[in-house]
Amino acid sequence: MHKIKCKNCGVEYTYEEEKLIFRDDDSYECLCCGNTLISWNGSVIPTKFKLLKKPIADENIDK
Ligand SMILES: [Zn+2]
Repeated sequence: MHKIKCKNCGVEYTYEEEKLIFRDDDSYECLCCGNTLISWNGSVIPTKFKLLKKPIADENIDK
């Protein structure tokens, strides 16, 4: 199992890798902000994306 973090909004996903018998060219967008999370072009592709809990909002930031 692998982990990836959205660079834009910070939510984390887990995913697994799958080997295909053909090449695939695609990408997966963050469900929260639409940012492209990961893109691939080859026969090993990420799959079974699972959204982990959104990190707690920055409550510690005081101005
Ligand atoms: Zn995001």
